[in-house]
Amino acid sequence: VTTQTSPRRGRPIGAPGDLLANNRSTRGRVSQHTRRGGVLDSVAPGSPAARAGIKAGDIITTVNGHRLRDVVDFQFYAADALVDLGVLRGDKPGVETITILRDTAQDIGLAFQDPTFSPIRECNNHCPFCFIDQLPAEMRTSLYIRDDDYRYSFLYGNFVTLTNLNKRDWVRLAEQKLSPLYVSVHSTDHELRSILLGNSKVPNILDQLDRLAELGIRTHTQIVVCPGLNDGEALEKTIRDLTDRHPNVVSVGVVPVGLTRTPEEILDSPAAACSRILPSARNLNLRQFRTEEATEVIALVESFQRRLRRALGKSVVYASDEFFLLAKTEVPDAAIYDGFPQYENGIGMVRDFLDDWSTRRAGCAPDLRNRKPTVITGKMFAQSLSSTIDEWASWCGADVQVVSLENSFFGPRVTVAGLLTGRDILSAADQFRGDLIVLPAFMLDKTGQRLVDSVTPAELESELGRPVSFAGTMTELTSAVATR
Ligand code: SF4
Repeated sequence: VTTQTSPRRGRPIGAPGDLLANNRSTRGRVSQHTRRGGVLDSVAPGSPAARAGIKAGDIITTVNGHRLRDVVDFQFYAADALVDLGVLRGDKPGVETITILRDTAQDIGLAFQDPTFSPIRECNNHCPFCFIDQLPAEMRTSLYIRDDDYRYSFLYGNFVTLTNLNKRDWVRLAEQKLSPLYVSVHSTDHELRSILLGNSKVPNILDQLDRLAELGIRTHTQIVVCPGLNDGEALEKTIRDLTDRHPNVVSVGVVPVGLTRTPEEILDSPAAACSRILPSARNLNLRQFRTEEATEVIALVESFQRRLRRALGKSVVYASDEFFLLAKTEVPDAAIYDGFPQYENGIGMVRDFLDDWSTRRAGCAPDLRNRKPTVITGKMFAQSLSSTIDEWASWCGADVQVVSLENSFFGPRVTVAGLLTGRDILSAADQFRGDLIVLPAFMLDKTGQRLVDSVTPAELESELGRPVSFAGTMTELTSAVATR
């Protein structure tokens, strides 16, 4: 099974649980951490660390006298040419000090098993739209972790709410200047944000963003918009408050709420005891966007973009691809995305897909006349994909079948391809007539090893009796089909 990734997707952003795949984790708890330091996963052959005799499985406890809490500490304190490492080894008592002298341009060569050496920081919120409350059982266990850890935000671009920062965190942020951070704002109206986060004790987000700016820390922000709650005037105020803070607020992503189940459905279900949703969420009337509402959000974002592009030469605020698909409107040109600062948040992926195809089809077509792939997608992108796939088939000659699947696992409200599960694929297997199955690359976790319901690509291949590839662009599709 080949996993194709586009260069832009190389940035490791996403659920931290994906990076904790080696841990035994249960709902909200991660084990196998050591408070003594960080366990090494590997040591790069020939690196300064390897030459100093450091090995996988060793535990790094200190760097230049500083106790290590996580990889961020390691990066911060090990930046010098002369590095003293405190090392614990299974076969030796006590901590050994190993000194490494290296060229600072050269990587020291250590990879840790986990980015944090103590359990990941979880959120203290009760968002009525919390994705985790909507998850069915039997998903990847790491998906049940309510990550709200600013260190993962710094390392991998995970969005955090900043509601759980304590004094020590602020001291650390001031010292290490962890920038940029990715912040879920939702609304700059304090009361409304409290409702959206289900937390009456949320700190004032604008004060927090300003404080980060004073520390030299920039932020990428997102607004998860719930129709009837924080859209309209509330959204306008939020966008204005955030874009007024540019360049410290680098970008503002506007994303529609995703609902597999409403709070009412969750609270009425037998598993409600496990839910964190507050009973008051029942009255919020949470629902998904309608076409005309999505159009209004796009119009609002575009009015800000026009003003900001005139004043600053950049958009700063961006509507997610899902809004354009909901509104059945064309996505903007690539220039509007200013280098795609929130690509991994689903902002600009469709434009990237279309532009990739424009470039690819202008090039030499491979002869794929004897290839019969089945390409699978979710309902939301099916129409746009089908017309591009038709062009592609005429271009290269492949006998392609496109199958758009309903999400039977999360329910028909979920139409994005990335949340299709292994079980959705397997239950539709008798529809597939291709000799190669190509799935959306976004179905895979960040390690490329599992789908959202823990099914592996190898299990899919075995059950389907055919090779399975993953592709996110037409270039990747072409290469997947050509190499089979
Ligand atoms: S959506 Fe809200 S409740 Fe759920 S994990 Fe994120 S911050 Fe916590």
